[in-house]
Amino acid sequence: MVEHVSEDRAAASDIPPLDRLLNAEAMRAALDTHGRTQVVAALRRDLDALRERALAGGLMLAELDAGAVAARVGAALDKAARPRLRAVYNLTGTVLHTNLGRALLPDEAVASVLRALTSPANLEFDLDTGGRGDRDDLIDELLCELTGAEAATVVNNNAAAVLLMLNALADRREVVVSRGELVEIGGAFRIPDIMKRAGAKLIEVGTTNRTHAADYETAIGSRTSMLMKVHCSNYAVTGFTKSVSVADVAALAHAQGLPATVDLGSGTLVDLTQFGLPREDTVRDTIAAGADLVTFSGDKLLGGPQAGLLVGRADLIRKIKKNPLKRALRVGKLTLAALEPVLHLYRAPEFLAQRLTTLRLLTRPQRDIQPLAERLRGVLAHAVGANYAVQAVPMFSQIGSGALPVDQLPSFGLALRYTGSGRPGRHLDKLETLLRGLPTPVIGRIADDALWLDLRCLEAGDEAAFAAQLAEPLA
Ligand SMILES: *Cc1c(COP(=O)(O)O)cnc(C)c1O
Repeated sequence: MVEHVSEDRAAASDIPPLDRLLNAEAMRAALDTHGRTQVVAALRRDLDALRERALAGGLMLAELDAGAVAARVGAALDKAARPRLRAVYNLTGTVLHTNLGRALLPDEAVASVLRALTSPANLEFDLDTGGRGDRDDLIDELLCELTGAEAATVVNNNAAAVLLMLNALADRREVVVSRGELVEIGGAFRIPDIMKRAGAKLIEVGTTNRTHAADYETAIGSRTSMLMKVHCSNYAVTGFTKSVSVADVAALAHAQGLPATVDLGSGTLVDLTQFGLPREDTVRDTIAAGADLVTFSGDKLLGGPQAGLLVGRADLIRKIKKNPLKRALRVGKLTLAALEPVLHLYRAPEFLAQRLTTLRLLTRPQRDIQPLAERLRGVLAHAVGANYAVQAVPMFSQIGSGALPVDQLPSFGLALRYTGSGRPGRHLDKLETLLRGLPTPVIGRIADDALWLDLRCLEAGDEAAFAAQLAEPLA
């Protein structure tokens, strides 16, 4: 069979030389944006691909036009230059979403980070004496004031805080923990594993659902370094249960001259019930109950940057700060720059629900979210087309990041259901992918044959930009 070769087909010999394409006027924009090194490399890749297709007989002359080549090269380089870490809309209904970066920083903290990024700062420089300073000095007074602790220090995250605390105080010794508190947090953080890595020996006491004071008491021996309590964070033990309070564990520990430590997980600095949120023990309560050391996260309920905070007895904090792991786990200036203004906001609790972004989102009333859902319903309906029903409906958000999953916040949002023929599952997956593919990806969640977009975390200032990228029907 003789194949018909059209006039428009190109042979390998028709491909222009690299230099000519590089110097073509059409390539100017790509050169100005990406520089010669990258353009040459991208051009080589494009010409290699053209050559292969010419040999296979599938190349058209039009594809060799300098304008067409420049457009492909420019598009490939633009795509490669797109940041991998991108802003998204968190419409999952989980406010403190670990996979979406947890707490959002308030403006004061953002401004402070920007300053620390662009100008030298007294990170380890004592402005009073002109001598060397300690980076912890920047925030330890504030932490003590807010928690009632004697001393404080900060590391990279709460997992690091627990690791450091155990290594500094329990290396080659025993740590007594209730079986009901041997939790796994987010897959990679398990109390027994961290304990092992820190060099401490875990002594489990009690049972999964019930632990008594006597269980701790009989476990204490000559090798015991501390009694430790761990916040159950992401699960609840309900029904026939018993645990021993921080105050009682502390009393048992102190009777034997041992410290009582608490991994509080989220760790809040204020009574959340005043904002209509579920009750959590505050760090201050925990210290007041007798805990000698408390660790907690900076980017959970606290609403700050990723960090692990350790507060408690001055002698124990001193020992922790002398441990070599402290240097390995220390925070950078950006963390401290963000943390200080966030802690500062807690001095004025009356403004907290407005100024602390995390708390503002958590306390946003349903009546604020409902009109937003009703306004955006039409936008979404137009964007997703006639095969979907879009409804504005009440729903429940979750705090996330270790707050109890049973604590739900009344919210409002959109439910998208497939109404065309065929099974809805595949269509909902496709819709979810399309929303995720938007310039600012929209992240919802699929459950019960619907795609749910909880609008709690879409604040008034985001509405226009959110609607704008949905102005055209999703392809
Ligand atoms: C979240 C959590 C951790 C881990 O904290 P990170 O800041 O994510 O490292 C440790 N313990 C408890 C109880 C937690 O809830």
